[in-house]
Amino acid sequence: MKFCNECGSYMKKTKNGFQCRKCGNLIPANTRLSSKNVKKIEQPSSVYVVSDSEDEYVKVSQTCPKCGNKEAFRWFSRISGEHAGIRRERTTEHFKCTKCSHSWSKTS
Ligand SMILES: [Zn+2]
Ligand SMILES: [Zn+2]
Repeated sequence: MKFCNECGSYMKKTKNGFQCRKCGNLIPANTRLSSKNVKKIEQPSSVYVVSDSEDEYVKVSQTCPKCGNKEAFRWFSRISGEHAGIRRERTTEHFKCTKCSHSWSKTS
């Protein structure tokens, strides 16, 4: 049931919509709200796996930027993830000075 928004009278349902019997105001039938089914797109969240095991410590000849010592422990950490179907992998080289324990890293 609808009432005229112009004069407040009862509106009769016709094939064209609701028509006011008093003033002739017509509300077209196709004004009904279309229920849109908006599909929620679930984006795959990037999963990053960081792996660094201390077992892979290797002593290498690397100059410490802090004390100038020429020996450092080296290990790697690998960060991999998938974004938009593209697989990415990033390896970071970590160093730790054998003398002053200063640590730094390089990303390849
Ligand atoms: Zn009316
Ligand atoms: Zn050092």
